[in-house]
Amino acid sequence: MTSNAYFVDGDTPTLIDVGAGFDIIERIEQVSQGSIPAQVILTHTHPDHVGNVDTVRDAFDIDVYGIDAQSRFVDTPLEHGEHVQVGDSTYEVWFTPGHAPDHLCLYSSTERVLFSGDLIFPHGGVGRTDLPGCDHRDLVESIKFVVEHVDDDLKGLFAGHGPIIEQSAYDHVLAAARLVEHT
Ligand SMILES: [Zn+2]
Repeated sequence: MTSNAYFVDGDTPTLIDVGAGFDIIERIEQVSQGSIPAQVILTHTHPDHVGNVDTVRDAFDIDVYGIDAQSRFVDTPLEHGEHVQVGDSTYEVWFTPGHAPDHLCLYSSTERVLFSGDLIFPHGGVGRTDLPGCDHRDLVESIKFVVEHVDDDLKGLFAGHGPIIEQSAYDHVLAAARLVEHT
């Protein structure tokens, strides 16, 4: 069981989540055209998203960012509203608990791209909240926050599971909001 893991190339080559249970170094070599990741940002620390953290730490000697300062997977904690460089663009950190207590999304208003982790999935899916540490009320509030703050001309939705969405991405965010509207 693995999450998606994204390699964003540019001035600050960045891994967003690292997945679990596959050879991430080989995959990076296949897609990175020789560029080396400078940092990892974790959307949250569920096992399917962090399983390869130690492997990339050993291979690249890089810093791992995330919300939970207490997590052994996180070297440098991030806060809501902070700006981080990802590839060639600046992204805002959104603390979006619910599916996990340490969940974040990354949003670039210039790129109009959202990395939604396990908060919002393509085709109106939302993160499960039946696991320890989950909170459905928080999930609903986090989704509301995202709907209110992303551009309605969102260009890209990159979720923790499922396909990449580059067409009518905002519709997928709205569909997620609709799903939890009356819950
Ligand atoms: Zn998760």
